[in-house]
Amino acid sequence: MTDSFSCVNCAAGEPMAKPPFPNAYGRDIQSKVCESCWNEWKGLEVMLVNEYKLNLLERKDRTHLRENMKDFLNLSGAREPGAKTDFRPKEYTEPGA
Ligand SMILES: [Zn+2]
Repeated sequence: MTDSFSCVNCAAGEPMAKPPFPNAYGRDIQSKVCESCWNEWKGLEVMLVNEYKLNLLERKDRTHLRENMKDFLNLSGAREPGAKTDFRPKEYTEPGA
């Protein structure tokens, strides 16, 4: 990591010491998102898992979480870094519903 690190979500912050996942995807997130935004997401993730009773063994449920994560952390760069977000979790549809 260099001094020029700037989080895509908050436009500031400190880089994570290590990637959140041990793969290219994790390193991509590490290069974009700061430690505190990541920790914020981790808290939200737990809430979402509880609220929607997600089963992380289910691909659909993992995809649901990943989409929310992408939105929340601005991984696709849809927002200006640092722009205030009124993040709302995507609706989750019950499998088979
Ligand atoms: Zn950040």
